Amino acid sequence: MKIIASNFKTNHTRRSTQEFCTTLESFLNTQKNPNKITIFPPTTALLDNTFKHFSIGAQNAYFTQCGSFTGEIGLEQLHEFQIQSLLIGHSERREILGESQEFCAQKFAYFARQDFEIFYCIGESLETKNKGLDSTLVFLESQLKGIALDYPKLIIAYEPIWAIGSGISATLEEITQIHTRLKQKLGKIPLLYGGSVKPQNVSEILSLDGVDGVLVGSASWEIQSFCKILENSF
Ligand code: PEP
Repeated sequence: MKIIASNFKTNHTRRSTQEFCTTLESFLNTQKNPNKITIFPPTTALLDNTFKHFSIGAQNAYFTQCGSFTGEIGLEQLHEFQIQSLLIGHSERREILGESQEFCAQKFAYFARQDFEIFYCIGESLETKNKGLDSTLVFLESQLKGIALDYPKLIIAYEPIWAIGSGISATLEEITQIHTRLKQKLGKIPLLYGGSVKPQNVSEILSLDGVDGVLVGSASWEIQSFCKILENSF
């Protein structure tokens, strides 16, 4: 079993997410896909987490039950949809929205206490990558500071920033190199790769040692493309 997750980012409306999920459910009804599938729609498009073949997760939430955190949602809003999965540490939130490591760790600690499944993202910039493997690993480890690696519902996604949305994924050698080293630290924690995964490369990426699944952005937004990714994933 592999883990296949789709991050819609700021794409899709509530209506189009509903259509996407209905089509996906029908598609998965017709085939025995052994994989664990999670869809992360935008907050306004969260749907009841009651689909048979996949889960709905949230791209973001604040570490609170409810309260005065303008623009954020908390546990109460997630519970309304029976949502139990959360993305934390995506590079776009770290870089564009300025989420610090301490903030990611606070979010993690709160939602781990709530028994959430946490998809926790790490990934280096091109500048860090160019400093070499050791520097890259030191950087990636710094993004795990404050994260309880013995939390049983933790899934880590390695997403090199330079490969996200570029259309060019890391090479199989690069993925293997980083995943092998990360696995030495992470042990049994599932480790996903993300960064320009698409129907054409998903199969070879999933076949690599140390790759337990993929987190997909742009190539998952169109249902036909996502179904192809699923077809090519087992
Ligand atoms: C992502 O942002 O999580 C991602 C992997 O995006 P893309 O697949 O578009 O590179």
